[in-house]
Amino acid sequence: MSNVILARMGEVTLKGLNRGSFEIQLKGNLKYRLKRFGNLKIYQSQSRIWIEPKEEDNPNFANEAAAKDIMAAVCQVFGIVSVSFARKFEGGFDSICENAKSLTEYVLSENPDYKTFKIESKRGNKAFPMDSPTICDELGGFILDTFPNLSVKMKNPDFIINVEIREYNYVYSGKKMAHRGLPVGTAGRGMLLLSGGIDSPVAGFMMASRGMPLDAVYFHSYPYTSDLAKQKVIDLAKIVSGYSGRMTLHIVNFTQIQLDMYKNSPQDMLTVTMRRVMLRIAEKLAQKHECKCLITGESLGQVASQTLEAMVATNEVVKMPILRPLIGMDKQATCDISRDIGAFETSILPYEDCCTVFVAKHPKTHPHPEDVIEAEKNLDIDDMVEQGVAGTEDIEITPVLI
Ligand code: ATP
Ligand code: MG
Repeated sequence: MSNVILARMGEVTLKGLNRGSFEIQLKGNLKYRLKRFGNLKIYQSQSRIWIEPKEEDNPNFANEAAAKDIMAAVCQVFGIVSVSFARKFEGGFDSICENAKSLTEYVLSENPDYKTFKIESKRGNKAFPMDSPTICDELGGFILDTFPNLSVKMKNPDFIINVEIREYNYVYSGKKMAHRGLPVGTAGRGMLLLSGGIDSPVAGFMMASRGMPLDAVYFHSYPYTSDLAKQKVIDLAKIVSGYSGRMTLHIVNFTQIQLDMYKNSPQDMLTVTMRRVMLRIAEKLAQKHECKCLITGESLGQVASQTLEAMVATNEVVKMPILRPLIGMDKQATCDISRDIGAFETSILPYEDCCTVFVAKHPKTHPHPEDVIEAEKNLDIDDMVEQGVAGTEDIEITPVLI
């Protein structure tokens, strides 16, 4: 008997002729991600990926509790739907009973109040002499005899014992849900405009979940925004890169540009003009670092700069597509994802954002195109953009590994 991790693939299995390349990327990402858990064999059969240690004494596979970290790491890899920790063994029905018994002992030791169970069985190997319903009946009877305090419940039992018969036999109980999506690296790279807020880390997470590797850009206005605000963005980048993989964070020194705009542009248009400059700089950085699109955390109508008119005004200044994965999302739904990915507590730390420091009291929420042109009349935009790109600090982000 040995212990293995069973990871289920999702949307990847719906791919046609190019399915192979998605699977290769997924296995590569898992391999990279799981490096620190020892020498592993990662292979695939049908819609599953199996992960097992090459050496028998790998402590990460000793039991389900010891495998907690490696299971969490697998769950951070996009393309995986769920994972289970399974016992793998050979032999006939007796061996299935024996392993189901020790599995049940383990489950009960972790959850002493469990009273009900059911068996689910899959027989891929048709040479096995019992069919699935018979396995369920016989094994259910055996468990009832062995654990007199348990009873069978078909709907919502406390736990399920899964049996799978393939080239080997497997038993396991329970599964941990992962984040689905497509393997990072199967889409082109995107440049995430990462602020210290709740929305943009979620936007990055969502695009990465579609296979997109990320770079990030942050506009920093020291000393109006503090070193703590910068550190907060670095921390958020680390959290996002736990899902999206290695990332470079480009920190634009935005102070002088903002001061110039503050002086030479009408107050009520500042939000729009500032965003237009940000987007222009972000596009230049994106081109420089081989990104094909920009990503923001905007959601329609959330704040003054996120009305349709304001977004049209910012779209105008760049050629690259601006992806806004949160555009139709409710704030609550965004917060739920933020919590789920472990970003929320960092996002709500109270450090100021450059947009809030220089914000006008009554920004124009529905700017006309003429207003925008008028507002930029006294600004040397090209020079600002050049200045912004030139004054950028690059930081290599090391992912937060769960
Ligand atoms: P977030 O929660 O992501 O900060 P927000 O609701 O505060 O968003 P805005 O301040 O209008 O909204 O910003 C909209 C989007 O613009 C952000 O989601 C982010 O993508 C980008 N953005 C805003 N400020 C910055 C900044 N200082 N650096 C980089 N990107 C920024
Ligand atoms: Mg913000």
